[in-house]
Amino acid sequence: MASVLIALGGNVGDVRATFAKAISHICGMAQAAVIARSSDYRTPPWGDEDQAAFINACVEIETDLDPHALLFVMQKVEQKFGRTRDKDRQWGPRTLDLDMIAYDDVSFRKPDLTLPHPRLFERAFVLVPLAEIAPDRVIAGIRVRDGLASVSTQGIERLADTG
Ligand code: ATP
Ligand code: CA
Ligand code: CA
Repeated sequence: MASVLIALGGNVGDVRATFAKAISHICGMAQAAVIARSSDYRTPPWGDEDQAAFINACVEIETDLDPHALLFVMQKVEQKFGRTRDKDRQWGPRTLDLDMIAYDDVSFRKPDLTLPHPRLFERAFVLVPLAEIAPDRVIAGIRVRDGLASVSTQGIERLADTG
């Protein structure tokens, strides 16, 4: 079994409900089990700041799928939840974005998949939820808690559990 960290994000629709359904679909399609799930966080938009606040979270799952098969599942789940993109706006509004942050200690760069995720350590909106579930995980030689300590977490707010 591989341990995989997935970052979830969205800022259109009932994002928290979408996350819950998306995680259960990923697990069903990938025959995966959830090992840990972070809280949800409200985070300022990144990259393209002229849009609504995002909700972000991270999960750790265990699966036997290889990285590309899992990416395929994640993209199917994004489509299922109505992922639409404004083609002119990179990092613009979306219902659901699923990024594979790390897959065991696998490291490669291919046209459709780079592991670990190359922009992970620039992004407090990934590091805050990730540090909640995997503070001691070392990714690309950096411990998650140390990565978090080196970014500004200004404007990031943990949301109460929905119950
Ligand atoms: P970013 O990758 O900077 O977070 P984004 O999530 O907005 O940007 P997308 O449009 O969702 O980008 O994805 C673009 C492509 O990135 C996908 O089609 C996918 O093939 C590729 N990709 C490369 N590495 C990864 C990864 N680790 N996880 C998810 N997608 C990846
Ligand atoms: Ca992303
Ligand atoms: Ca993505």
